[in-house]
Amino acid sequence: MSQHTCPVCGSNHFETFFEMLEVPVFCNVLWPEQKAAQNCQKGDIKLAFCPSCGFIGNAAFDPSLLDYTQAYENSLDFSPKFQNYSQSLAQRLIENYDLHHKHIIEIGCGKGEFLVLLCELGNNQGIGFDPTYVPLPEHEKVQDKITFIQDYYSDKYADYASDFICCRHTLEHIPQPTILLENLRQVIGNRSHTAIFFEVPNGLDTFQNMAIWDIIYEHCCYFAPVSLSYAFASTGFRVERTYDEFRSQFLCIEAVPGESTKEMSQQQIADLQQLTEDIKTFAQRFTTKVETWQSKLEYINKKDQRTVVWGAGSKGVTFLNLLKNKNHIDFIVDLNPRKQGMYVAGTGQRIVAPEFLRDYQPELILIMNPVYEQEIQQMVADMGLNAEFMCV
Ligand SMILES: [Zn+2]
Repeated sequence: MSQHTCPVCGSNHFETFFEMLEVPVFCNVLWPEQKAAQNCQKGDIKLAFCPSCGFIGNAAFDPSLLDYTQAYENSLDFSPKFQNYSQSLAQRLIENYDLHHKHIIEIGCGKGEFLVLLCELGNNQGIGFDPTYVPLPEHEKVQDKITFIQDYYSDKYADYASDFICCRHTLEHIPQPTILLENLRQVIGNRSHTAIFFEVPNGLDTFQNMAIWDIIYEHCCYFAPVSLSYAFASTGFRVERTYDEFRSQFLCIEAVPGESTKEMSQQQIADLQQLTEDIKTFAQRFTTKVETWQSKLEYINKKDQRTVVWGAGSKGVTFLNLLKNKNHIDFIVDLNPRKQGMYVAGTGQRIVAPEFLRDYQPELILIMNPVYEQEIQQMVADMGLNAEFMCV
């Protein structure tokens, strides 16, 4: 299956510029058995770029391969660094939008951590939508404030009015993102005071800064500021601002209902030209980066250095799969207890808790996300271990 029409602006110049074939369709599904993890369903990534709006998507994406269930686990909330970020984001949104005693909807709320923050810090009422939501005992104490609905958000929930709608790390999973935005706009109707906050992975981090381990099958969409603004503006939102967060890894957009427009500012046109240039050289830069890591791993193997990867999220899973023929790594560390004891999709490494390292005594720790470098080094030092670190 291949697609030649841009799902955001409808242009027919949606051309493939990069391929990564036979990758696990889910990086974030937990496998309790190694064989099953290795034999997991695979799919092809064929990234296409639209020079008209800047959208990047997987033209070979087949949604029928993905069935988001409660086994889906992409929570990052076990890291203090990520918790601090979520906490300060929630506080900022509450302040900026005066979210006190208001109604909040979160689309794709995952396990509900962020919605709980917004509702507890601002004493708000919330409704969270997510088919992967699992009722948690700690949510009992907020059940007078928050309702969780184990379903995709759709116009069938149009009656749930709200003052603030947020959606974090969800839009990139939706093959036709503008349909969600159009539905949302329709549901909001003339409730012009409703404010919107969306957060997605920052495509510029991946395609300009070469955070290549973020390319995963689950993400059928990659947004840069220009394409994200276009998607919102063209579906009837007035974009207040876009900005990056979390060391440029996340891209945020704040919007309110408005008139639909397809016009771009001079700045946006310039950004689009720059992105077009970056896309032309991406495949070559990707190969260079992977080859560099192949050589590094060969060197590590030659030295016979006992090595672990830290971070069993998308980046860790992609790194291990892309370099599966070159690494002798058996274990991957993750703070999320729901992941520990499980196995990595595709390559089958076992996910372990940090405490595992006390016995294992790694000589080298590959840190998958530089954001967590200090936090990880501190934990390792606290355990009295003496390992080298490398950021991937
Ligand atoms: Zn387009």
